[in-house]
Amino acid sequence: MLTNLQQQPADALLALIKLHNADPRADKIDLGVGVYRTGEGDTPVFRSIKAAEAKLVAGQDSKAYLGPEGDMGFVEALMPYIFGKDSPDMGGRIEGMQTPGGTGSLRLALAMVKRAGYKRIIVGTPSWPNHAQICADLGLGVVEFNHALPSGHTDMDAVRAAITEAQEGDAILLHGCCHNPTGIDYTNEQWDDIAQRIADAGILPVLDLAYQGLGMGMEEDAYGLRRVLVAVPEALICYSCDKNFGLYRDRVGALYAMVSDPADRAKVMSNGHNLARANWSQPPDHGAAAVRLILEDEALTADWLAELDEMRDRMRQVRARLAAAGLAGAVDLTPLGGQNGLFSIVPLSKDQVLEMREKHGIYMAGSGRINVAGLTMGNIDKFIGAVADVTA
Ligand code: PMP
Repeated sequence: MLTNLQQQPADALLALIKLHNADPRADKIDLGVGVYRTGEGDTPVFRSIKAAEAKLVAGQDSKAYLGPEGDMGFVEALMPYIFGKDSPDMGGRIEGMQTPGGTGSLRLALAMVKRAGYKRIIVGTPSWPNHAQICADLGLGVVEFNHALPSGHTDMDAVRAAITEAQEGDAILLHGCCHNPTGIDYTNEQWDDIAQRIADAGILPVLDLAYQGLGMGMEEDAYGLRRVLVAVPEALICYSCDKNFGLYRDRVGALYAMVSDPADRAKVMSNGHNLARANWSQPPDHGAAAVRLILEDEALTADWLAELDEMRDRMRQVRARLAAAGLAGAVDLTPLGGQNGLFSIVPLSKDQVLEMREKHGIYMAGSGRINVAGLTMGNIDKFIGAVADVTA
């Protein structure tokens, strides 16, 4: 029977890692995989995480099960950062649970959307490919709209039309900040407009915040999410600590539900617990416990925020350098200066992406997506020159 299974396509980015590893050229550049890199090309464990891990090892006296909701100290410690210090639970309307990364959170959120009776989810494209993959696996219909214009701005007409045309039983998935793969975020004014339209249309927002602090700052990057939450009665929020605490493989995330009546909170979240039980039972503890120890300690929190500032500043410098280059052959790099987070799309054809790889040893996704943090002051001129060469 198992032979009835069909071969599935390999994940394109994971295949790219293998190709990059096998390339003997010393000056090859990896712009594929979505992890932060320092100016030296490393993805180190954060100082604050190392300190918290040392505390954890010294102080943890049991690894007994915690339950499907995971470490609630971790879940609650994050809330002022996500939802704001003034009313982190929106008057008793928000409850969360720990999940294995942002992916685990999205898996539960979308399964809850399906279970609640929603039929379709509206998603701007291109999006992180796993959004569509999870929806397909759950049998949730996806309605696509065009996220961005070639000029490097969001396609507001498309998002407005998508909301206007929404039907009863639709939800909408929005990236909170640092849009993956385009780096093109909504402005605050656009968020104001979107929040009101979502409220007027009565559709359920699912907000994916996977890069808080890597765009403009911790508070700034939460603007859109908070703006939507004050406008609507209910929402699901998917959070990842894998980028902003550098915990990638430790799989640290959280799911929050905002309900209109605090009396419904426990009922709604019991669905999250029950779905978690059927998927992974309980989330992995270590990374979330380390995040909790950071957030419970003022000095560690200050150090973590300083590390985050350093990462964001470096990515801003790389973006400024790209923007200053202006035209590279036929490609205008200027818009990348105003985009946010780890990713941007360089408009190259599939053949040009292949030429970047084969002729110049520069590895990027077939879509033209680059990880900006893969560029350093030492290799950025080579990258700009290669873009000029393949588009000349
Ligand atoms: N949402 C978006 C938009 C992402 O880009 C990612 C990861 N690349 C995630 C969610 C999930 O992150 P993780 O599961 O690694 O925490």
